[in-house]
This record gives sequence, structure tokens and C-alpha cells, in this order.
Amino acid sequence: MKIAALIVAAGRGTRAGSSAAEPKQYAVLGDKSALAHTVAALASHSAIGHVLIVIHPDDGDLYQNFIHPNGGSGALTSSAAQKLMPPVNGGMTRQLSVLAGLERLADTIQPSHVLIHDAARPFVSPQVISNVVNALTTSAGAVPAMPLTDTLQKTNGDGLILETVPRDNLWRAQTPQGFAFPAILAAHRSASQSGRDDFTDDAALFRWAEGQVMIVNGEEQNFKITTAEDLIKAQSLVAQRSQSMIVRIGNGFDVHRTEPGTGLYLCGVHIPAEFTLVGHSDADVGLHALTDAILGALGDGDIGSHFPPTEPEWKGVASKHFLEHAASRVAQRGGILNNVDVTLICEQPKIGPHREAMRTAIATILNLETGRVSVKATTSEQLGFTGRGEGIAALAMACLTVPV
Ligand code: MG
Repeated sequence: MKIAALIVAAGRGTRAGSSAAEPKQYAVLGDKSALAHTVAALASHSAIGHVLIVIHPDDGDLYQNFIHPNGGSGALTSSAAQKLMPPVNGGMTRQLSVLAGLERLADTIQPSHVLIHDAARPFVSPQVISNVVNALTTSAGAVPAMPLTDTLQKTNGDGLILETVPRDNLWRAQTPQGFAFPAILAAHRSASQSGRDDFTDDAALFRWAEGQVMIVNGEEQNFKITTAEDLIKAQSLVAQRSQSMIVRIGNGFDVHRTEPGTGLYLCGVHIPAEFTLVGHSDADVGLHALTDAILGALGDGDIGSHFPPTEPEWKGVASKHFLEHAASRVAQRGGILNNVDVTLICEQPKIGPHREAMRTAIATILNLETGRVSVKATTSEQLGFTGRGEGIAALAMACLTVPV
């Protein structure tokens, strides 16, 4: 399956009580916008390869600010940012905005499946996303939903109850709504050509085009921020979560052997030399130690358990990939990286001239400010294997804040 997530963020959202200048998907929840929470939730799911956001044509500046808040490096981890496609402008209605997004996907990556999600549902969990993805192996459409628990009353126009509606088999639909891509694209084109532009839900449109849609388990926390009350609820949920965060640290250590060669990778930077480091991957001992430090802080195994050296898949791979993976595990747990610190132990090469490039490389991979990245170096006074130049060692520490 090649799955893209299509996030509809083109609404004006005036019902949430925000001014028209700040639609609800850009409202700040904790340290970032609702949209950033939503994108992070989808992009950190391993089944999703691409994320496309449909924005309102007037929201270009808000969108830029979402990508680079306060002129900083970004609200997304680098692995999430890599999945993000350039945004597409939406249409007059939600339905036309979805169609614009689907057409962009058809013109570009042509996924096999698409998950269409409301930007204003920032609390979608990995479990709900997996429920939808799993259902798509047997159904052309899948929608997360919650059973109704309140009694339903139907009234006349004046608020007088006419009848009590049985709630058996009634569900409240959520998003992401997942579909086989060619089928939902055809359904949207056909609705638009038939002059229908008023569907507020993709499952309803898909059913109109005679597609079949399965219900899967949604979650109460996957609510849509619609009213001012919802926004307060979302803000307090994020605040509660941040209060139940704890600081965790982890360390990492790695050694790679040297052999004659033309240069080596250290902390993501290629350094010409008369030797190289030997390893299954590119043998970047600094990034390996740092990857282990992050995994250590999470209590999430080590680099060898995530990327077994016995698997040919990782042969010669850039170690950046391992570090990105560790950062994505932090994001999946709802955590953030506070700072990282790497110490390289070698006589050669001299690290000083490359230190700033190394800090920048690590900061870019982890999507951290450079000020939160430290790279240090020491010799071992010509003692031991590092002193004799038989190998290079690296130590690293990582400090995270993660939910308890
Ligand atoms: Mg290693």
C-alpha cells in the first residue's frame, strides 16, 4: 500500500469563536498550532508516506508561520517534514477542497490509498489511524466512528419533540476516512460533474457513488475542534498532557575500527582523510552513539534492535536514517528532544574545524535549534586503541521530555 494523508485545512472555522484572521486549525495548543499537532500525528505513523495539506488561498502566511513558527526551524520533526508535500489551495466548499487535494495527489505521487483528515482533529491516535489502514486491506472505504450514547430526539421547528429516534446502528463519523485512491478520486470527480458540491463528509460522497464503507473504532479524544468550547477543551487537554510529562535522559556509546581509505563520516559530515571507518552502514560513530542515546532515553532498545546489522537493507545506509528513526520514535510517544551532546574520542581527524558543520547537520536531522546540539572532542592522550588510531569512539547523551 502506498498511503497518502490529505489534511483539509481550508475552512474558516468562525464557529470556534476565533477571528476570521485565525481559523481554528491555526489556533495554538501548547507549543504549536492545532495543524502542527495534526500533521505530526499523521506523519509519525509508519504506514503514511506522504502528507498533503489543503489550505485556504488567504492562509499562505499562516501556513508559512506553521512551517517556520517565529522564524524558527519548524514545528515538525525532520522525518515529518520530509513527508510533507507543498500545500495546495482549496475551493469554495470542503468537498471542492478535498477534490483539489486528490487532483494534486493524482498529478504527483499517485498513492494506492488516501486518508482524508480534518485539520481540526489534532488528537487522532496511532491506533485509530491503524484501524483505518487495516480495514483498507479488505474494504474500499473505512471510517472511524463512535456509537451514539445519548438518546436522540427529533423535534419540529419549534423545539417540540415529535419522536424518539432509536439509536441502534447509529454512529458518529470521525476522520481520517480512508479510501482506495482511484475509487475516491472517481467518486469526487463524478460528484463535481453532477453539480454536487455540498457533501460535508467523504464517506457520504463515496456511498453516493455506490462505494462501500466500513466502520472501524474511533476514539472520544479524536474530536473535532468546532466551537469555542471545543477549543478550550483542546487547550486544557494539551496542558494536562504537558503537566504529565517527565524529563528522561539516555546515553550511547559506539566504536568503529579504522582502515586505509579516503575519508569518513562523523556526525553527518564527510571529512577527507587517509583512512575510513569500517561498518555495515556508513559507520558514522557519532550518529550511532547519539541514536542509542535517544533510544536509551525512551527505553526503546538500541540501534541494533531497530536496524539489525544482519539485514542487507541497512548495508551502506547513511546513518542519518537511524537518527531520524530515533527522533520519530520520540514524536510517536508525544515527546520532544530538549538537547543532545556528543563527545568524539580520537587523535585524528581534528574535530575543531568541522564542529559547527556537525552541529548544523545534527540540528537539521533532529529539527532542533543548533543551540541545543553540542559536539565535543577529546583525544585519549595517545593511549589505547583510539590513541593508536585503530578506531574512533563516541559518547552521547540525549535529554527528552515525554509523557509519563
Ligand atoms: Mg556503530
